[in-house]
Amino acid sequence: MKYILITIPVGLLETNCYIFADAVSREAFVIDPGGDAPVIIAAIKKNNLSPKAIVNTHGHWDHIGANRAIQDAFSLPLYMHAAETAFLTDPVLNGSIALGGGTPSPAADKTLCDGELLTLGSLKLTVIHTPGHTPGGICLLTEDVLFTGDTLFCGSVGRCDLPGGNESVLNASLKKFRLLSPFLTILPGHGSACVLEKEFKHNPYL
Ligand SMILES: [Zn+2]
Ligand SMILES: [Zn+2]
Repeated sequence: MKYILITIPVGLLETNCYIFADAVSREAFVIDPGGDAPVIIAAIKKNNLSPKAIVNTHGHWDHIGANRAIQDAFSLPLYMHAAETAFLTDPVLNGSIALGGGTPSPAADKTLCDGELLTLGSLKLTVIHTPGHTPGGICLLTEDVLFTGDTLFCGSVGRCDLPGGNESVLNASLKKFRLLSPFLTILPGHGSACVLEKEFKHNPYL
């Protein structure tokens, strides 16, 4: 296996924080550190990984809640789509207002765009812009896996009734999955993993 994948459900909504690393260089991205920073930090250290950046699939509080703690622990830059950056510091947009607000995340250091390639050792990750759940939601495609954030869950899709959500925009984004290999493993923002081919057959939203 060329990569190391660690899945840690974090926080109140059991958001999947994924630590994705190149097996040789051990460089890693921390994808959606939504909470439970000490657990994430311990996993990075235990596996001798060298984190390179935090990547947020989108800016909801349950995906960004530990951005600051992880950034402080490893001095990491924060990546997210250009259309989503306002979510990081706006408690209405990121939903943290319901929990008392505050500023859950530092600002983005690098903005991403559709089709951009990110490098992690010998691995390449392609950014796919999939708005609808939020305006700047992204999926990350690499090797045989697709990180889908809250755009696509196994058996369902992300809701569109939160600030910036849009159902017809989401439906357009879902069509992009038809262009991908059906054998990809979907790694969603919540819940268990599944294979894209099965979702085409059984997910009513696809
Ligand atoms: Zn979300
Ligand atoms: Zn979520």
